[in-house]
Amino acid sequence: MLSYRHSFHAGNHADVLKHSVQSLIIESLKEKEKPFFYLDTHSGAGRYQLRSEHAERTGEYQEGIGLLWQRNDLPEELAAYMSVVHNFNRSGTLRYYPGSPLIARQLLRPQDKIYLSELHPSDFPLLRSEFQKDERAKVQRANGYQQLKSQLPPPSRRGLILIDPPYEIKTDYQEVVKGIQEGYKRFATGSYALWYPVVIRQQIKRMLKELEATGIRRILQIELAVKPDSDQRGMTASGMIVINPPWKLEQQMHTVLPWLHNALVPSGIGHYLVNWVVPE
Ligand code: SAM
Repeated sequence: MLSYRHSFHAGNHADVLKHSVQSLIIESLKEKEKPFFYLDTHSGAGRYQLRSEHAERTGEYQEGIGLLWQRNDLPEELAAYMSVVHNFNRSGTLRYYPGSPLIARQLLRPQDKIYLSELHPSDFPLLRSEFQKDERAKVQRANGYQQLKSQLPPPSRRGLILIDPPYEIKTDYQEVVKGIQEGYKRFATGSYALWYPVVIRQQIKRMLKELEATGIRRILQIELAVKPDSDQRGMTASGMIVINPPWKLEQQMHTVLPWLHNALVPSGIGHYLVNWVVPE
C-alpha cells in the first residue's frame, strides 16, 4: 500500500523541524574535508509545488514554512536550511518547497555522495529526473529499509542516514527500529536521523522503549509539538531521533526549538524538548 503522498504535507511544521535537524547535521559533517555519504531511505519526490492542488487542499505549508521564510530574525542555526528554501523561491513568492533530497543536493559538496531510495510509482520518476545530472547521486526505486543493509557501511565511513517513512502502516513503528539495528550493525559510527509523528503518544513511547532495548547508545530525541497530545485523529507533534548526533546538535536545538515554537505557535500551546533517550 503506497497511498501516502508527501505533496499534501510538504513544508508543514514537521518538515520544518526535520529539515532544520537534517541541515544542521550536514553542516557539521562538512566541518571536515573528508567526504561523507548521505542516505535518504524514504526520499519522496524531491520538489513540491506549493501552489498545487495537493498542497493548497491542506494548506499545511502556510502554518509551517509559510510563517518562517521571510522572517529576518532567524537564528543563524537555520541559515543553511533557509538558504535552500530561498534558492527555490528567488522570485520572492513562496512557490516551491525542497524536500530532504534537494536540501542535501544543495548543501553537500562535490566530494560527497548521495544515495536516495523511493518506492512510489509517481514520486520516483520525479525524484530521478531531479538528479539526472548529478554525478554524486544514485537514485533507486527500492525499499528504504533494505538500503540500511545493502548500502552500509559507506566507503567513506562517514555519513548521515535519514529515515523518514510515512507510517501509513502501523508496522513502520517496528520496522524503523529493526532497520536502525541492521544499519548500526554495519555502520556504528554513522549518524542516523529518524523522523516520527505524534498521533498516538503510546506508539512513540513503545518505539523509544524498543530503541533503548537495542543497546545502542547516544540516542537524542528532539520534538516540537504544535498542540497538546490528543486522543483525536491527527498529528499534534513530530520529532527526530538522532543516533550519534554531532556534538553541537543538542546545544543548537536549545536555541532553535524555542525560536521555532514561538514562530510556529505564537499562542504558546504545545511544547518542545531535547532529551537523551540513551546517553553516551
Ligand atoms: N524524506 C522526504 C522529505 O523530507 O522531503 C519525505 C518522504 S515522505 C514522508 C515518505 C516517502 O516514503 C513517500 O514518498 C513514500 O512513497 C515513500 N515510501 C513508503 N514506503 C517506502 C519504502 N518501504 N521504501 C522507500 N520509500 C517508501
